[in-house]
Amino acid sequence: MCTRCESFVFSAAPASHASAWQPRRAFLLAAAGAALAGPALAQVSVGNASMARNLVPAERIETAGVQQYGQLLEQARAKGALAGDGNAQLQRLRTIANRLIPFATPWNTRARQWKWEVNLIGSKQINAFCMPGGKIAFFTGILDQLKLGDDEVAMVMGHEMAHALREHARARMAKSAGTGAALSIGAQLLGLGQMGDLAARAGTQLITLKFSRSDETEADLVGLELAARAGYDPQASVSLWKKMAVASRNQGGLSFLSTHPSGPDRIQKLEANLSKVESLYREAKRS
Ligand SMILES: [Zn+2]
Repeated sequence: MCTRCESFVFSAAPASHASAWQPRRAFLLAAAGAALAGPALAQVSVGNASMARNLVPAERIETAGVQQYGQLLEQARAKGALAGDGNAQLQRLRTIANRLIPFATPWNTRARQWKWEVNLIGSKQINAFCMPGGKIAFFTGILDQLKLGDDEVAMVMGHEMAHALREHARARMAKSAGTGAALSIGAQLLGLGQMGDLAARAGTQLITLKFSRSDETEADLVGLELAARAGYDPQASVSLWKKMAVASRNQGGLSFLSTHPSGPDRIQKLEANLSKVESLYREAKRS
């Protein structure tokens, strides 16, 4: 049995399938067409996205993301661990996502076509991700164990959305072509079982993908800006990673904490960028 499924905590079957939605309003930035160089009016500085990603078609990685997301939801649903639309925590996540999504497109014009989706999986794991194509999932463990406030949830969500928007998985897939074995090890570690094997054979295991330190820094900063523009307090990025640091001292090496080490370096970089997004946050709070 899958170790993740064993820790699923919802008992009731979900009432209905989760619905996708489109952003309600457009985010007007001067250089929306600048795609992955980052918007011209961006406050954080992350440079150009990796050219290596161009070796893999964006459609391919987005399709894989949607497929793997569907498999994960199906597995959770079968265990009664997929939160239904009426779940209060899920509604909270979707409210936060609805505020962040309008600010995503300037970071990647492909996101205009994405069918964003947010789901909550009952699991003690401290974990959250956004698959290529805008498929977001949170595990109840990250909300409950870290006792995340809305601003902190927005920082996690912004960070994960940034990985998708900056196409880090696509770049990793291109760089690791021929190293499917390494990716399937990640699937085994998480106890994904057959689903993990299938995903590994398909080319990559997106859920367990470990990004580089520079990808992580980029996701921190882009996520920080997304959340600030959506009216979430930038200071929450620091409190979030302090909570992560405490949790990682108390837990084993699996899940989010193993792929997201929370050291002083990470917190210092965030602190150094707080002033850049402070005015965006204040502006959003006024409107
Ligand atoms: Zn990350």
